[in-house]
Amino acid sequence: MPELPEVETTRRGLVPHLLDREVTGVVLRRSDLRWPVPREIETRLPGQRIDAVRRRAKYLLLDTASGSALMHLGMSGSLRVLPEGTPVRPHDHVDIALDDGRLLRFNDPRRFGSLLWQAPGTLHPLLAGLGPEPLSDGFDGDTLYRASRGRTAPIKSFLMDQAVVVGVGNIYAAEALFAAGISPLRAAGKVSRERFAVLAERVKAILAQAIERGGTTLRDFIHPDGAPGYFAQELSVYGRDGRPCPRCGCPLKSARIGQRATVWCPRCQH
Ligand SMILES: [Zn+2]
Repeated sequence: MPELPEVETTRRGLVPHLLDREVTGVVLRRSDLRWPVPREIETRLPGQRIDAVRRRAKYLLLDTASGSALMHLGMSGSLRVLPEGTPVRPHDHVDIALDDGRLLRFNDPRRFGSLLWQAPGTLHPLLAGLGPEPLSDGFDGDTLYRASRGRTAPIKSFLMDQAVVVGVGNIYAAEALFAAGISPLRAAGKVSRERFAVLAERVKAILAQAIERGGTTLRDFIHPDGAPGYFAQELSVYGRDGRPCPRCGCPLKSARIGQRATVWCPRCQH
């Protein structure tokens, strides 16, 4: 599943191809993605210039004077920039044609992705109530400390709550807690301000490193046969249940927390 770093890498890969381009047409081969594609995608988007390519949480926004196309890659979605006339493959659901003879093509085998519309000056309901961006200055240890007081939920569930901070998925929550030495089972409300400062710093570092590593796959966005830009991570605990802790060698433990598989070191994390 694309996580925040993959979505940000996708955004950076798309910017040079989409910015200041005019949309000349939209082809919808299926209008039933996770949610129905609204009429505005076909009626308002063509003829508009793309003024910005933004990301909020795991949503990508193509801003125009007439409104914004709001895209989510879901479980299996990918976006590629291709020459006009590139043969359509299975699950190529949407083409957004550009004035330079290329097109932005959305492929999504499982159709959990979405393509929606945000009118100018409004906030789509899916973007309302979201917490701060983890890589922004608006997110730090104090943000987490204040939001966590009185919370009895495990810190891992708290960290993955989109109202607390966006885009910290299962992999990154497990890795950041390991890096900060905090047990994923600990009640969020029992974590000190000092430990939250370390945790916030680790979250930022791990996400930034993943985005940087993703940069090497950018060429795939213009390669017709290129795989989407998901990239292998160097992981310390995620998916390593029962294997030795990379820090102390003690076998890693696992449990389900909030229905999500979680792995941690019982010696290094407390
Ligand atoms: Zn350990």
